[in-house]
Amino acid sequence: MNPKLLTTRWQQLPENTVRRLQAQKLQGYLRDVVLPFSAYYRELFRSNGLTADMIRSLDDLRRLPFTSKTDLLNTPDHPQRMRDFLLVPDQQVLAHRGSTVLRALLSGREHVRKGFEAEFRPIFMTSTTGRSAEPVPFLFTQHDLTNLALAGQRLFETCGGQREMRLLNMFPYAPHLAFWQTHYGGVAFGVFTASTGGGKVMGTEGNLRLIDKIKPDVIIGMPTFIYHVLHQAAELGLRCENLRRIVVGGEKIPEGMRRKLVNLAFELGARQTDVVATYGFTEAKMAWGECPCGPDETSAGYHSYPDLGVFEIINPKTGETVPPGTPGEMVFTPLDSRGTVVLRYRTGDFIDGGLVYEPCPHCGRRAPRLVGNISRSSEVKEMRLDKIKGTLVDFNQLEHVLDDAEHVGAWQLELRKRNDDPLEVDELILHVHKSDGIRPDKLIRDLNNQFVARTEIHPNRIIFHDADEMRELQGVGVQLKEQKIVDNRKQNAPRESRRKDDDVAAVPEVRPVETTEVCK
Ligand SMILES: [Zn+2]
Repeated sequence: MNPKLLTTRWQQLPENTVRRLQAQKLQGYLRDVVLPFSAYYRELFRSNGLTADMIRSLDDLRRLPFTSKTDLLNTPDHPQRMRDFLLVPDQQVLAHRGSTVLRALLSGREHVRKGFEAEFRPIFMTSTTGRSAEPVPFLFTQHDLTNLALAGQRLFETCGGQREMRLLNMFPYAPHLAFWQTHYGGVAFGVFTASTGGGKVMGTEGNLRLIDKIKPDVIIGMPTFIYHVLHQAAELGLRCENLRRIVVGGEKIPEGMRRKLVNLAFELGARQTDVVATYGFTEAKMAWGECPCGPDETSAGYHSYPDLGVFEIINPKTGETVPPGTPGEMVFTPLDSRGTVVLRYRTGDFIDGGLVYEPCPHCGRRAPRLVGNISRSSEVKEMRLDKIKGTLVDFNQLEHVLDDAEHVGAWQLELRKRNDDPLEVDELILHVHKSDGIRPDKLIRDLNNQFVARTEIHPNRIIFHDADEMRELQGVGVQLKEQKIVDNRKQNAPRESRRKDDDVAAVPEVRPVETTEVCK
């Protein structure tokens, strides 16, 4: 079967064909691209007695050990860890390939040299964010940027984009995937896109000005930031009647938050707005989206691109792959990546509906879909709350409680030490902006009940704020990402030890790709 089908008909193939073609592509990718040029995977395969030829089906992927976040961090033994994950082409290997010789004969050496440059020379990067770990840089070659654009184009198609729409990209301008996925996707799709850079670049006012000027059909960005901007727009009496779609990413989006965004769009005069979510991560170098569905329908999940990567869902405790439609942790393996490459990457993200192959009930596409709610385990682990009545609190649960709660607009959960004394017990303080005229004592009672029902604890205090105070607390227009959960327990610690969210990753030293010798 022609492996190109996986690309030309990426959204039309049945499960068994997808899996067979993915396995075929994976084997070639490992044999010709990853193993010859990746220091890390060459050694990993060698020490596990594996070769590319042993990976014949997607089930054989299980023989390959996972790669986790911790594998990417520098250690005293590996002070430049990310270099080991960078594909560095070996000129001898490339020069002796039959395909290279043939291409040189047909199109000339210069053509071959340029081709290898485009394939292997890193020219762009994004990096991970995270409260606990140092940012990790992921390098892209021109080949990767072409795939980023392709993924973006498909993402726009999946999310129901149309070329005559006007888009406002409100993702923060930074070396982070979300901004650049939107930028390259917009260019490849051929749709008008204005990028504000988020709150930190233009301030909330700048974003409001552009909404007023452009009257976008689609707003794309992080849900919390869009919430603040639209809330302020409504307060100022701005109109944006043609706002048809809000595309969110970078944070999870509970049902309640979708409802709030639709209600705010209604206040701006938009009569039919839907919210679609996207999911992506630095290590995959791409993002996936939901297709639009009616207000009373359930989302069909994130539509993946089977020619660009393989998802597996695993039981996070045993590491075993689970059957389709079963909840578990998402594991990703790229099929056409260059630059920085990680295989069988454990995302640390759980999806409660698993991976399914059936045609999408809304749009009919047959691409593998990731269905259900995603919770990021990394966010939970970084924020253990172990001293409040000895209960371990799941912050994913609390976020859902608050985003879904009636009468709650913006909110922030603050952890601090009682009386700011480092030896004292932890306190949990909830800051809330009420979205309507409900009596404060009633809302406090409701929230306490919901907290106890979902997590067995309740906040020590609930403090009400107006919209301005809430924006200031969350750092809207100041922080790269709005602060919904803050840990002030270490506020007496020296400032340098507290990481900022937008630290730019150190770029590993990159050996230039010399391809001039290849064709000799
Ligand atoms: Zn669909």
